[in-house]
Amino acid sequence: STRATEIPTAPAAVHQDAGITRGLVEITKVRKSFGATEVLKGITLTVEPGGVAVIVGPSGSGKSTLLRTINHLEKVDGGFIAIDGTLVGYEVRGSTLHELREKDVLKQRTEIGMVFQNFNLFPHLTALENVTEAPVVAPRSGKPRLTRAEARERGLELLDRVGLKDRAGAYPRQLSGGQQQRVAIARALALDPKILLFDEPTSALDPELVNEVLDVIRELATSGTTLIIVTHEMGFARDVADTVVFMDEGQIVEQGSPKDIFTNPREVRTRSFFSKVI
Ligand code: ADP
Ligand code: MG
Repeated sequence: STRATEIPTAPAAVHQDAGITRGLVEITKVRKSFGATEVLKGITLTVEPGGVAVIVGPSGSGKSTLLRTINHLEKVDGGFIAIDGTLVGYEVRGSTLHELREKDVLKQRTEIGMVFQNFNLFPHLTALENVTEAPVVAPRSGKPRLTRAEARERGLELLDRVGLKDRAGAYPRQLSGGQQQRVAIARALALDPKILLFDEPTSALDPELVNEVLDVIRELATSGTTLIIVTHEMGFARDVADTVVFMDEGQIVEQGSPKDIFTNPREVRTRSFFSKVI
């Protein structure tokens, strides 16, 4: 089922030939409701290629929902999201916009890696199998399917990158929470995604395990991976963010450099939030 829409309602992303598109991720006036409750009230946010956006804000402000709309886990009610110049969930045919079919959406999801609070590893697979399963079974659109041997080699490289090559044969229950989350990051990287989304990646961890996970994300940030991170770790946010985004009640209240947002917030709501969490 495709629905045609007049193109003028689309964001700059569809006019990329005109050189208007800037962001790798371009979120334009996104709205989302659950029943009568509007959870996202017109979110507009651009993340440059290689950029790191950190989203902070009180519980219930819509942070997870925003990440989930980027990854097609939730459908937006209004607005658009473009990844690398391609509208997520839509395609341009002639002069109209068509909603993509489920199959195309699933394909596009392979370009977007996501790491959740609770790791979500497959419990019956080893660390290495968790990392290699995706590229063998469902390779990213346009990429060749890897052989088992190639996937294993790549999986070991990725486990090495997160410091867990020596635990390749361990099952999730044999790993600490911090180790499980590092495997989940390696798994997200296995598809070579254009962007990685993190939803409170350290919130479920014992305090002494938080830093080993943040260090891995820091390394990704400095190596040019495009990241959108929801976190309550403000020191970390200050370190890695190009842009800090403060959300409250479904809106972006304020966004800017870490220095602007943490040292010199303009909005009362931002100041009030930081006075409670820092
Ligand atoms: P955050 O991640 O900032 O804590 P969420 O995006 O999880 O916020 O939630 C924003 C609001 O949307 C909350 O009020 C939450 O209860 C509501 N919400 C989230 N997911 C659903 C859903 N699937 N059905 C109904 N309400 C939801
Ligand atoms: Mg959340």
